[in-house]
Amino acid sequence: MEDSHDHTGVLDAVMERVRSHIGEGRVADYIPELAGVDPDEFGFAMATVDGDLYSVGDHARTRFSMQSITKVFTLALVMHGHSGSDVWKRVHREPSGNAFNSLHQLEFENGVPRNPMINPGALIVTDQLLSDTGDSAGALQDLLCAETGDPGLHADNLVAESETRSGDRNRALAYLMASFGTIRNPVPEVLDHYFRQCSITISCEELARAGLFLARRGRRSDGSELLSPSDARRILAVMLTCGTYDAAGEFAYRVGLPCKSGVGGGILAVVPGVCTVAAWGPGLDEKGNSVTAALALEAFTDVTGCSVF
Ligand code: GLN
Repeated sequence: MEDSHDHTGVLDAVMERVRSHIGEGRVADYIPELAGVDPDEFGFAMATVDGDLYSVGDHARTRFSMQSITKVFTLALVMHGHSGSDVWKRVHREPSGNAFNSLHQLEFENGVPRNPMINPGALIVTDQLLSDTGDSAGALQDLLCAETGDPGLHADNLVAESETRSGDRNRALAYLMASFGTIRNPVPEVLDHYFRQCSITISCEELARAGLFLARRGRRSDGSELLSPSDARRILAVMLTCGTYDAAGEFAYRVGLPCKSGVGGGILAVVPGVCTVAAWGPGLDEKGNSVTAALALEAFTDVTGCSVF
């Protein structure tokens, strides 16, 4: 990826791989407000640590629901604060091998979630960020606004309300953890922040820019340190092993990059020291990962050879 010609070739190859698959998969409908998203949309963007931004697809600038991709950013905020080491007493760092909203493992593991990339783990992280800042959703929004350079980035209230109405599974996870004493703030408050966080909308171009601190070894866009290089590396390790739920092994095989997906159909991937890549297509596979975004990332690593392996 030396010059713009190479980038054009990469973007063309991504489009080529994805084109005939656009529309495949199933849009998440367990959150009713997401069910109406057009399944034929697709976007892809790459942001380099040198400040270049490249994109392809008709919808690289269309905003979509971040959903679980927010879990990487809230984890980074908690690790930035003094509670970084404390949070690891409350959530493990192992792949779950189960669905992102599964309950049964949580019960026999005494309310300590397997990792922060699945719902119960992210609820613990949100609880911690709420204790640290008094406003978990606000802290996340501030970070995203600053890193994308768009002060207007915000939660979609309709999606947040829809998640609240249909969120019994997340309520069950949170109350189960509260029964073990692993959630500290009032459950309704933690859930309110969690739902508002998930419902933030962002485009591929914005997401690629927002995640660059992970490619820059923890440095934010203004040069300040969000994470130490070691903590940035650790988050990437958690993304690689847990970021795509019970498909993390498949993603390591096919893509070979730390990734985080969300049921809005977005996936953020990081090439450490080089760039971030964000892909979006609303149709999901049975594990809850976007079909076209996964194909796009696979094409990206095939063509560029950019992989951690
Ligand atoms: N808000 C969604 C939920 O809690 C996030 C899940 C996801 O993106 N995997 O179910």
